[in-house]
Amino acid sequence: MIALEGVGKWYGAYHALKNVNLTVRRGEKIVLCGPSGSGKSTLIRCINHLEEIQEGQIVVEGTKLTDSSRAIDAVRREVGMVFQSFNLFPHKTILENCTLAPMRVKGLDKAAAEAVARKYLERVRILDQADKYPAQLSGGQQQRAAIARALCMEPKAMLFDEPTSALDPEMVKEVLDTMIGLARDGMTMICVTHEMGFARQVADRVVFMASGEIIEEGPPEEFFRDPKHQRTRTFLGEIL
Ligand code: ATP
Ligand code: MG
Repeated sequence: MIALEGVGKWYGAYHALKNVNLTVRRGEKIVLCGPSGSGKSTLIRCINHLEEIQEGQIVVEGTKLTDSSRAIDAVRREVGMVFQSFNLFPHKTILENCTLAPMRVKGLDKAAAEAVARKYLERVRILDQADKYPAQLSGGQQQRAAIARALCMEPKAMLFDEPTSALDPEMVKEVLDTMIGLARDGMTMICVTHEMGFARQVADRVVFMASGEIIEEGPPEEFFRDPKHQRTRTFLGEIL
């Protein structure tokens, strides 16, 4: 349902993604890892067109990503994204954060949007926080609110960019548990994370990037037991 074919991305003269090929099937869970600056965020930002690519193509659910605003809207409707820094609207309540896009983009009326929002806030277990503002929530609650907000668009896939790395350690588990629940429900997921316990438990494939290239990929048991490339071994030696 997501296919990157020969993707090349430059920031000015800097070659950030080099001939990236990656196909993600429906329901598949990919964990993307690699050293800082290897292009992980760039790769997933390209998938929902937060960044433009200069080479190759990206196809999401049969829609080829071009610059047309129709293609971009179509893809953003299908693909939810969760960032390291939550990115909730600070002057809106949690409920309003969740109803905004379904009302604006999908044209739901307020009552319908609130019903959807309540369903997903319940699912991430923060329905009791619905009328608070983001700053009144813990980091873990804010991140779960951000996940609920993305789910309110009923996306076919979710992209996560280090969703737990800004959290205090005691809040990491509640966010990972939410993601594990999503995975169990069959969501298609690409997760940039260095939580290798999560990778072992949830990933169908672990993809390792370095210097803008996919260096190797494989099912977690194989990837961790027998990494093929020296760069992968070095990386795993540093984080495990
Ligand atoms: P980290 O683990 O630190 O989040 P990353 O693997 O997500 O790293 P990216 O953020 O994708 O890495 O960055 C890849 C490379 O592209 C880095 O060298 C970075 O400096 C560069 N880069 C990222 N965004 C921009 C930008 N907007 N303009 C110029 N260069 C950028
Ligand atoms: Mg990053």
